[in-house]
Amino acid sequence: MVVDAHHRVIAIDGPAGAGKSTIAKALSARLNMKYLDTGAMYRAVTFEAMLRELDLDNQQLITDLAQECDLHVGLDRVIINGHDATTAIRGPEVTGNVSKVAANSGVRTEMRARQQEWASAHNGGVIEGRDIATVVFPNAVLKVFLTASPEVRARRRVEQHGGNVIEIAQSIKDRDLLDSTRADSPLASASDSVVVDTSDRAIDDVVDEIEQLFRERI
Ligand code: C5P
Repeated sequence: MVVDAHHRVIAIDGPAGAGKSTIAKALSARLNMKYLDTGAMYRAVTFEAMLRELDLDNQQLITDLAQECDLHVGLDRVIINGHDATTAIRGPEVTGNVSKVAANSGVRTEMRARQQEWASAHNGGVIEGRDIATVVFPNAVLKVFLTASPEVRARRRVEQHGGNVIEIAQSIKDRDLLDSTRADSPLASASDSVVVDTSDRAIDDVVDEIEQLFRERI
Protein backbone atom coordinates (compact mmCIF):
# COMPACT_ATOMS: atom_id res chain seq x y z
CA MET A 1 0.00 0.00 0.00
CA VAL A 2 1.21 3.50 -0.86
CA VAL A 3 0.90 4.82 2.70
CA ASP A 4 3.09 2.01 4.03
CA ALA A 5 5.74 2.62 1.40
CA HIS A 6 5.80 6.30 2.31
CA HIS A 7 6.15 5.36 5.97
CA ARG A 8 9.24 3.32 5.09
CA VAL A 9 11.13 6.46 4.08
CA ILE A 10 14.14 7.90 5.86
CA ALA A 11 14.05 11.62 5.05
CA ILE A 12 17.40 13.41 5.04
CA ASP A 13 17.13 17.18 4.63
CA GLY A 14 19.52 20.06 5.14
CA PRO A 15 21.45 22.85 3.43
CA ALA A 16 24.21 22.43 0.84
CA GLY A 17 27.35 20.75 2.16
CA ALA A 18 25.80 19.40 5.38
CA GLY A 19 26.82 15.89 4.34
CA LYS A 20 23.43 14.69 3.06
CA SER A 21 24.61 12.71 0.02
CA THR A 22 27.53 10.96 1.69
CA ILE A 23 25.49 10.06 4.75
CA ALA A 24 22.31 9.08 2.88
CA LYS A 25 24.25 6.83 0.47
CA ALA A 26 26.15 5.12 3.29
CA LEU A 27 22.92 4.62 5.21
CA SER A 28 21.11 3.13 2.22
CA ALA A 29 23.96 0.66 1.65
CA ARG A 30 23.97 -0.37 5.31
CA LEU A 31 20.22 -0.80 5.55
CA ASN A 32 19.89 -2.29 2.07
CA MET A 33 17.39 0.39 1.10
CA LYS A 34 17.17 2.28 -2.18
CA TYR A 35 18.55 5.83 -2.34
CA LEU A 36 17.13 8.89 -4.10
CA ASP A 37 18.89 12.24 -4.54
CA THR A 38 16.04 14.72 -5.16
CA GLY A 39 18.48 17.61 -5.63
CA ALA A 40 19.74 15.80 -8.73
CA MET A 41 16.18 15.93 -10.11
CA TYR A 42 15.99 19.73 -9.80
CA ARG A 43 19.52 19.99 -11.16
CA ALA A 44 18.66 17.84 -14.18
CA VAL A 45 15.61 19.96 -15.07
CA THR A 46 17.81 23.06 -14.77
CA PHE A 47 20.44 21.45 -17.02
CA GLU A 48 17.89 20.57 -19.71
CA ALA A 49 16.31 24.03 -19.60
CA MET A 50 19.75 25.63 -20.02
CA LEU A 51 20.67 23.25 -22.82
CA ARG A 52 17.53 24.34 -24.66
CA GLU A 53 18.28 27.97 -23.79
CA LEU A 54 14.84 28.40 -22.23
CA ASP A 55 14.00 31.48 -20.19
CA LEU A 56 14.29 30.22 -16.59
CA ASP A 57 11.96 32.99 -15.42
CA ASN A 58 9.18 31.71 -17.65
CA GLN A 59 7.30 29.63 -15.06
CA GLN A 60 4.97 27.89 -17.52
CA LEU A 61 7.70 26.98 -19.99
CA ILE A 62 9.87 25.40 -17.28
CA THR A 63 6.86 23.65 -15.73
CA ASP A 64 6.02 22.13 -19.14
CA LEU A 65 9.60 20.90 -19.47
CA ALA A 66 9.47 19.35 -15.98
CA GLN A 67 6.18 17.61 -16.72
CA GLU A 68 7.28 16.23 -20.06
CA CYS A 69 10.86 15.22 -19.35
CA ASP A 70 12.03 11.63 -19.28
CA LEU A 71 14.17 11.65 -16.14
CA HIS A 72 16.27 8.88 -14.60
CA VAL A 73 18.15 9.57 -11.40
CA GLY A 74 20.20 6.52 -10.48
CA LEU A 75 23.05 5.90 -8.07
CA ASP A 76 25.70 6.47 -10.76
CA ARG A 77 24.00 8.32 -13.60
CA VAL A 78 21.51 11.12 -14.17
CA ILE A 79 19.88 11.00 -17.61
CA ILE A 80 17.35 13.52 -18.87
CA ASN A 81 15.70 13.18 -22.27
CA GLY A 82 18.52 10.87 -23.31
CA HIS A 83 21.27 13.33 -22.29
CA ASP A 84 23.78 12.13 -19.73
CA ALA A 85 23.80 15.07 -17.28
CA THR A 86 25.75 13.32 -14.51
CA THR A 87 28.77 15.64 -14.57
CA ALA A 88 27.19 18.84 -15.86
CA ILE A 89 24.57 19.02 -13.09
CA ARG A 90 27.37 19.49 -10.53
CA GLY A 91 29.00 22.36 -12.44
CA PRO A 92 28.82 26.04 -11.44
CA GLU A 93 26.33 26.99 -14.21
CA VAL A 94 23.64 24.56 -13.10
CA THR A 95 24.45 25.14 -9.41
CA GLY A 96 24.03 28.89 -9.93
CA ASN A 97 20.55 28.51 -11.46
CA VAL A 98 19.02 25.49 -9.74
CA SER A 99 17.44 27.40 -6.84
CA LYS A 100 15.51 29.58 -9.28
CA VAL A 101 14.12 26.53 -11.07
CA ALA A 102 13.42 24.81 -7.74
CA ALA A 103 11.37 27.81 -6.58
CA ASN A 104 8.93 27.23 -9.46
CA SER A 105 5.78 25.68 -7.95
CA GLY A 106 4.85 23.86 -11.14
CA VAL A 107 8.26 22.17 -11.19
CA ARG A 108 7.98 21.27 -7.51
CA THR A 109 4.52 19.74 -7.87
CA GLU A 110 5.81 17.52 -10.68
CA MET A 111 9.02 16.50 -8.90
CA ARG A 112 7.14 15.80 -5.67
CA ALA A 113 4.74 13.46 -7.49
CA ARG A 114 7.66 11.63 -9.10
CA GLN A 115 9.39 11.28 -5.74
CA GLN A 116 6.25 9.83 -4.16
CA GLU A 117 5.82 7.40 -7.08
CA TRP A 118 9.46 6.38 -6.70
CA ALA A 119 8.94 5.58 -3.00
CA SER A 120 5.82 3.58 -3.75
CA ALA A 121 7.62 1.61 -6.45
CA HIS A 122 10.62 0.86 -4.20
CA ASN A 123 8.73 0.32 -0.99
CA GLY A 124 10.37 3.29 0.71
CA GLY A 125 14.02 4.29 0.71
CA VAL A 126 16.56 6.82 1.91
CA ILE A 127 15.60 10.13 0.29
CA GLU A 128 17.57 13.34 0.55
CA GLY A 129 16.55 16.90 -0.26
CA ARG A 130 15.19 20.08 1.28
CA ASP A 131 11.47 19.41 1.81
CA ILE A 132 11.39 15.63 2.16
CA ALA A 133 10.31 15.55 5.81
CA THR A 134 8.18 18.69 5.75
CA VAL A 135 6.18 18.21 2.56
CA VAL A 136 6.92 15.17 0.41
CA PHE A 137 6.87 12.41 3.05
CA PRO A 138 5.25 13.80 6.21
CA ASN A 139 4.72 10.19 7.37
CA ALA A 140 8.37 9.15 7.05
CA VAL A 141 9.42 6.79 9.82
CA LEU A 142 12.56 8.82 10.47
CA LYS A 143 13.31 12.44 9.64
CA VAL A 144 16.81 13.81 9.95
CA PHE A 145 17.89 17.42 9.43
CA LEU A 146 21.64 17.64 8.89
CA THR A 147 23.52 20.86 9.56
CA ALA A 148 27.15 21.97 9.66
CA SER A 149 28.92 25.27 10.14
CA PRO A 150 29.22 27.48 7.01
CA GLU A 151 33.04 27.07 7.03
CA VAL A 152 32.84 23.28 7.12
CA ARG A 153 30.19 23.20 4.40
CA ALA A 154 32.26 25.40 2.06
CA ARG A 155 35.39 23.35 2.68
CA ARG A 156 33.57 20.09 1.93
CA ARG A 157 32.22 21.42 -1.35
CA VAL A 158 35.71 22.54 -2.42
CA GLU A 159 37.12 19.12 -1.52
CA GLN A 160 34.39 17.43 -3.59
CA HIS A 161 34.15 19.69 -6.62
CA GLY A 162 37.12 22.08 -6.45
CA GLY A 163 36.94 25.87 -6.70
CA ASN A 164 37.80 28.81 -4.52
CA VAL A 165 36.64 28.53 -0.91
CA ILE A 166 35.49 32.16 -0.64
CA GLU A 167 33.47 31.96 -3.86
CA ILE A 168 31.96 28.60 -2.92
CA ALA A 169 31.03 29.90 0.54
CA GLN A 170 29.21 32.82 -1.10
CA SER A 171 27.42 30.57 -3.61
CA ILE A 172 26.26 28.25 -0.79
CA LYS A 173 25.02 31.26 1.17
CA ASP A 174 23.09 32.60 -1.84
CA ARG A 175 21.53 29.21 -2.56
CA ASP A 176 20.56 28.57 1.06
CA LEU A 177 18.90 31.98 1.25
CA LEU A 178 16.84 31.33 -1.90
CA ASP A 179 15.99 27.79 -0.77
CA SER A 180 14.89 28.79 2.70
CA THR A 181 12.88 31.88 1.74
CA ARG A 182 10.92 30.60 -1.28
CA ALA A 183 7.13 30.39 -0.89
CA ASP A 184 6.69 26.74 -1.89
CA SER A 185 8.17 24.13 0.48
CA PRO A 186 11.22 26.07 1.69
CA LEU A 187 14.25 24.43 3.24
CA ALA A 188 13.31 23.90 6.89
CA SER A 189 13.57 21.35 9.63
CA ALA A 190 10.30 19.53 10.39
CA SER A 191 9.04 19.81 13.97
CA ASP A 192 9.59 16.06 14.33
CA SER A 193 13.02 15.95 12.66
CA VAL A 194 16.13 14.91 14.57
CA VAL A 195 18.70 17.68 14.03
CA VAL A 196 22.26 16.41 13.65
CA ASP A 197 25.26 18.74 13.42
CA THR A 198 27.90 16.99 11.30
CA SER A 199 30.60 19.70 11.59
CA ASP A 200 33.10 17.90 13.76
CA ARG A 201 32.01 14.32 13.32
CA ALA A 202 33.19 11.40 11.25
CA ILE A 203 30.76 10.13 8.61
CA ASP A 204 30.59 6.65 10.13
CA ASP A 205 29.74 8.09 13.49
CA VAL A 206 26.77 10.03 12.09
CA VAL A 207 25.63 7.02 10.04
CA ASP A 208 25.81 4.85 13.19
CA GLU A 209 23.60 7.32 15.06
CA ILE A 210 20.98 7.49 12.30
CA GLU A 211 21.00 3.71 11.86
CA GLN A 212 20.42 3.32 15.58
CA LEU A 213 17.51 5.79 15.51
CA PHE A 214 15.96 3.89 12.60
CA ARG A 215 16.30 0.50 14.28
CA GLU A 216 14.60 1.84 17.38
CA ARG A 217 11.57 2.81 15.26
CA ILE A 218 10.95 -0.28 13.16
O1 C5P B 1 21.02 18.81 -2.80
P1 C5P B 1 21.52 19.67 -3.92
O2 C5P B 1 22.51 20.71 -3.47
O3 C5P B 1 22.01 18.89 -5.08
O4 C5P B 1 20.21 20.45 -4.40
C1 C5P B 1 20.28 21.39 -5.44
C2 C5P B 1 19.14 22.37 -5.32
O5 C5P B 1 17.91 21.72 -5.61
C3 C5P B 1 18.94 23.01 -3.96
O6 C5P B 1 19.78 24.14 -3.76
C4 C5P B 1 17.48 23.39 -4.00
O7 C5P B 1 17.28 24.61 -4.70
C5 C5P B 1 16.86 22.29 -4.85
N1 C5P B 1 16.21 21.25 -4.07
C6 C5P B 1 14.93 21.49 -3.62
N2 C5P B 1 14.23 20.52 -2.99
C7 C5P B 1 14.77 19.31 -2.79
C8 C5P B 1 16.09 19.04 -3.21
C9 C5P B 1 16.79 20.05 -3.83
O8 C5P B 1 14.42 22.60 -3.79
N3 C5P B 1 14.04 18.35 -2.21
